[in-house]
Amino acid sequence: MDRDVIILGGGMAGLSAAYFLSQHASVLLLERETALGYHSSGRSAAQFTVGISAPTMRRLAQASRSFLEAPPDGFAAAPILSPRGSMTVAPAGQEAKLHRQHAMLAEAGAGARLLDATEALALFPALDPAQVAAGVFEASAMDIDVDLLLQGFARGARAQGAMIATDSRIEAIERRSGRWTVRTDAATFSAPLLLNAAGAWVDQVADMAGRAPIGITPCRRTAFTFAPPPGMDTDRWPHVNSVAHDWYVKPETGRLMGSLSDQTPTEPCDAQPDDLDVAQGIYNIEQATRFTIARPLSRWAGLRSFVADRSPVAGAGGRVTRASSGWPARAAAAS
Ligand SMILES: Cc1cc2nc3c(=O)[nH]c(=O)nc-3n(C[C@H](O)[C@H](O)[C@H](O)COP(=O)(O)OP(=O)(O)OC[C@H]3O[C@@H](n4cnc5c(N)ncnc54)[C@H](O)[C@@H]3O)c2cc1C
Repeated sequence: MDRDVIILGGGMAGLSAAYFLSQHASVLLLERETALGYHSSGRSAAQFTVGISAPTMRRLAQASRSFLEAPPDGFAAAPILSPRGSMTVAPAGQEAKLHRQHAMLAEAGAGARLLDATEALALFPALDPAQVAAGVFEASAMDIDVDLLLQGFARGARAQGAMIATDSRIEAIERRSGRWTVRTDAATFSAPLLLNAAGAWVDQVADMAGRAPIGITPCRRTAFTFAPPPGMDTDRWPHVNSVAHDWYVKPETGRLMGSLSDQTPTEPCDAQPDDLDVAQGIYNIEQATRFTIARPLSRWAGLRSFVADRSPVAGAGGRVTRASSGWPARAAAAS
């Protein structure tokens, strides 16, 4: 079957690319798993923030805001973003880091404000007052309804004629007469453009296609949920994280989600939670708050994948480049 573009990977990167490209071209998306968003995209903390260390990612997040706040009619049956806010807190002696974060957020146009300890505690009353000297608050940080967003991209892409095939195991990728041929266990497809949006597996896919790796490192992050203390209404509390990046907590439909903010380099895989990371995350949260976490209610892990400078990567064929100021995608197009 001939198409203009074949996209490999049915996570946020591949599905959003399918949605926008199918407005101009015939698109086929192949996903290896039986469900879209099975890996990183279905396991995130679902936070929209521009408080990201890589400058290009900050600008991309800010540039995405208008679409997420007001997607086209019919894209989603409910709002994709809902107010949450994000607060970073620091103990005495680490305030300078908060000032740097405040400047970074201001540069990205996020309108954050510095807080004293009293203001930080008012926003997140479970913090241990002895551990909080100051905070910075990004009021415009949001919760993302990730499933709604993924399904919106998938439904919209299909409505524009894209084919999305899950459970598609790729056996070979070949370049013949100016076209890419992708053979799965079920069929053979061809297109002049192949878009590699395989997340943690982008270098494996590049290798299958005979292209140079981009040097991606998948990093495992473990997360868990726990019950809020009885009588505490936490639903309107912000996402809160430590300036040292060694824990975060956010409300999640009647529960709280926590993480150690771990980033352990690993092979691309179906990431599983690590018991020690869960235990260390609970310990760090208990040190900084008044929570006592008897046991997590659920736990999971996923992969966050980066190149060395944490910028997105885009480009064509062997000429893939870091998009430090350019094209917005963690994907490599090969032509
Ligand atoms: C615990 C955790 C918390 C996070 N929190 C946030 C957050 O709050 N906010 C935020 O913005 N981001 C967050 N992230 C990061 C975010 O989830 C990822 O950046 C994003 O989902 C990456 O999307 P992706 O499409 O690149 O990768 P993925 O979702 O992993 O998609 C890649 C897809 O490619 C498929 N694939 C691989 N190889 C092949 C092949 N050969 N053929 C076909 N398909 C293939 C895979 O099966 C997979 O479905 C978090 C991540 C984790 C793990």
